[in-house]
Amino acid sequence: MSTLKIEDLHVGVNTDTGLKPILNGIDLVINTNETHAIMGPNGSGKSTLAYALAGHPKYEVTSGSVTLDGEDVLEMSVDERAKAGLFLAMQYPVEVPGVTVTNFLRSAKTAIDGEAPKLRNWTKDLKQAMENLRVDPAFASRNVNEGFSGGEKKRHEILQLEMLKPKFAVLDETDSGLDVDALRIVSEGVNRVKDATDVGIMLITHYTRILNYIKPDHVHVIIKGRVAEEGGPELAERLENEGYDRFFTAGV
Ligand code: ADP
Ligand code: MG
Ligand code: MG
Repeated sequence: MSTLKIEDLHVGVNTDTGLKPILNGIDLVINTNETHAIMGPNGSGKSTLAYALAGHPKYEVTSGSVTLDGEDVLEMSVDERAKAGLFLAMQYPVEVPGVTVTNFLRSAKTAIDGEAPKLRNWTKDLKQAMENLRVDPAFASRNVNEGFSGGEKKRHEILQLEMLKPKFAVLDETDSGLDVDALRIVSEGVNRVKDATDVGIMLITHYTRILNYIKPDHVHVIIKGRVAEEGGPELAERLENEGYDRFFTAGV
């Protein structure tokens, strides 16, 4: 079992007017084979958490720690984080001109493992993963993210997840902009990876919709840069019914 441990994490974002504090002490422990939903209203700091884990240069960790099996993640470069088994979809550039999906996946896998995957198995696995995600075979020879629709970007994200087999995956708003069919296909992809590998999933979402397909073991609600409440799947159900209003009423 592997453990990703976030302790008292404080993160600010660099703006023109200086460092703006966003996360004010986040504590989270995620083990492999667990799925954690990170929920919260817009602007609560969910993506900031994802960017901080990804090592995005704009986001500055001012205190606290992140470790993966005791290793200091915050000291690692973006590449080292991937090698350590962290999958952070947003760590990759939005568009990679001239690099096809096939080549991108293969070089990412090679970089992570330190050796190229065996071609025959790789090709077979990629074909299978693409079929599973109902992506057109032509998709493999397109340039990464160039002209991808919202849905294609999300499918590409899950294709990476299936092919790279990380220890921990941070999926930020994987459900946004997907119609019901695409949401189901993408969710099935995540569930396949969960079943087939020992992966810990941090599923960041504003809406409870995706949680009908990907069942979380734990739910954490982030409000104003802090974990305001934690619980099991029943907490997501309560949020579905009540929204986030109760976190903002006087006295809370
Ligand atoms: P969420 O993902 O929960 O919607 P974010 O982490 O994106 O929230 O944002 C949290 C807060 O940080 C918001 O108030 C947002 O405006 C602010 N913020 C995030 N990124 C930046 C940025 N690059 N520049 C200025 N403010 C930012
Ligand atoms: Mg966000
Ligand atoms: Mg599993």
